[in-house]
Amino acid sequence: MPSPLFAALLVLAAAVFQPVPTASAPQAPPVQVAVALRSSPANLLQPPPIAYEVSFPNAVHHEAEISITLDDLPPEPVEFRMSRSSPGRYALHEFAKNVYDVHAVDGAGHALEVTRPSPYQWDVADHDGKVTLSYTLYADRAGGTYSQIDLTHAHMNMPAIFMWARGYDARDIRVHFEPPAGSGWKPATQLFPTGDAWTFTAPGLQYFMDSPTELSDFDEREWTVPGPSGPLSMRLAIHHLGTPAEVDAYTEWAKAIVGEEIALYGEPPAWDVGGYTFIIDYLPWASGDGMEHRNSTIISSSGSLAENAGGLIGTVAHEFFHTWNVERIRPRGLEPFDFERANMARELWFAEGFTSYFGPLVLTRAGIRDAADFARGMSGGLDYVIHSPAREFFGPAGMSMQAPFVDAATAIDPTNLANTFISYYTYGTVIGLGLDLTLRSRFDLTLDDFMRRMWRAHGKTEIPYVVEDIERELGEFTGDPAFAKDFFDRFVRGSELPDYEALLANAGLLLRPVAPEAAYLGLVQLEPADDGLAIASNTRIGEPLYEAGLDRGDVIRSIGGRAVTSEADWDAVLGAHAPGEEVEVVYDARGGSRTARVRFTANPRLELVPYEDAGRELTPEMRAFREAWLGSRR
Ligand SMILES: [Zn+2]
Repeated sequence: MPSPLFAALLVLAAAVFQPVPTASAPQAPPVQVAVALRSSPANLLQPPPIAYEVSFPNAVHHEAEISITLDDLPPEPVEFRMSRSSPGRYALHEFAKNVYDVHAVDGAGHALEVTRPSPYQWDVADHDGKVTLSYTLYADRAGGTYSQIDLTHAHMNMPAIFMWARGYDARDIRVHFEPPAGSGWKPATQLFPTGDAWTFTAPGLQYFMDSPTELSDFDEREWTVPGPSGPLSMRLAIHHLGTPAEVDAYTEWAKAIVGEEIALYGEPPAWDVGGYTFIIDYLPWASGDGMEHRNSTIISSSGSLAENAGGLIGTVAHEFFHTWNVERIRPRGLEPFDFERANMARELWFAEGFTSYFGPLVLTRAGIRDAADFARGMSGGLDYVIHSPAREFFGPAGMSMQAPFVDAATAIDPTNLANTFISYYTYGTVIGLGLDLTLRSRFDLTLDDFMRRMWRAHGKTEIPYVVEDIERELGEFTGDPAFAKDFFDRFVRGSELPDYEALLANAGLLLRPVAPEAAYLGLVQLEPADDGLAIASNTRIGEPLYEAGLDRGDVIRSIGGRAVTSEADWDAVLGAHAPGEEVEVVYDARGGSRTARVRFTANPRLELVPYEDAGRELTPEMRAFREAWLGSRR
């Protein structure tokens, strides 16, 4: 999801970071320049940039005052829109709901009528070729999708803040921020710097909307990494309540992650602004999120470095991986990003899922987490995917297409997602695991090197891909197109799963049930109710409670003659029976009291255990396989 730059430093370094260095561009003689400015048709195609002004006179009540000015307009009405979606978020979000007090004036400052033909649109007609539209915006959620204005910061996700004019996407954009007097704020953004510390530019709407901006009194750290043509700048801007020493330690972790991921891909992307920025908000009033952007990321949490640095760092590894996988190795369904409706992609299992596979792997290689942590994380994902009934309905490609309904989407009517959906993050993680172990054990190749291949074919070239492109690349990579077709038919378009037990054995990892002797009634949420336990989540297809006819909302009174009113009662029931036994369950359902027969099965939950901890022999081959997989690449 994103990346910003720090204005104070950028003003000094602007010449270095500008993608088109003026010093090396051929200079036209002054006379020709003057002529070009007056009459060249090329100049007519380059109208003045769309200009935004942003100020925060009522920050304490979470408001921003925003204006947008367009000049050189044809006589038609201008259609101003608020976005309904945000890059990196796959569901609709109605940002127009927080906009009010909308006014417009023409070039002479005369008031213009503003009409509203849809919930997301404000039209302005009868102008003189120039329109300034102004409005108030309310924002109080700091994360990757929304914005937050208060006395401590202006945390801005652009689609949640800025109206735009339909049909003018290609025009350059200039934005000026006016921080509250005495605030001590600085800017962090991937927008392009100018000679003024508070004014930035963007080459068109797509880049502007992809450039979240944080204004606050953040801590910052900087380092460089070698790029294809000189050093690239890495920046970490962190708005938090902790100590400089905590930031120093966190920065060392970030450096290790950046190093491992660059080593994996072989090179960093040529970031448009000469560097990459981590914008981080760890504040009690922020919300947990992570969002990738082309040259930056927004990472947020209500947690703190003091209490949970080891948990929070996972998002850093995930989002930075996205600067290759998603931002440049990009699903075709996300291009161009549509701010008026939800984009759909069949490739999110690869875009998000493989990124979720590599995040923990990189943390292990960087020495931030150990192999046992990695195994625990993978066993949780395997357990979830292997046992989900949803694979009956969709494979990874099909699950990816569900994103518009599950990615922070809100609705008030219940869904059957417990039976029909597996997160493409987790599904893709275990498919990535299966492919990596297959490449390593069968072809003496690695998924690292396959990602490099995808980087060269689709990332550096920025040619968006579809599922079939990955399949073709895999066929060429392995020299075995039949293998690639079989893998995609069964595991990507279909919903079979690789043989994890056999694959993991190569690394001396044992996949086994945690408690195969224990009785089980289903993965279900239970809540104490009057004289019973209420089922608070959908029961799952194939599991005992579902097969017995119980569903969400039912209240279980007794099982096998034992009353159940607490978690302890529930555990006692499971402890008193064995898999295969059948008993009577008494419960309240819609329409009255019922009884049914329910049959216990064996608890299916899985764990991943190193052979040496399971009394099995770890061979030198297994040890070497594990080290090549989980060890540092640097
Ligand atoms: Zn992601």
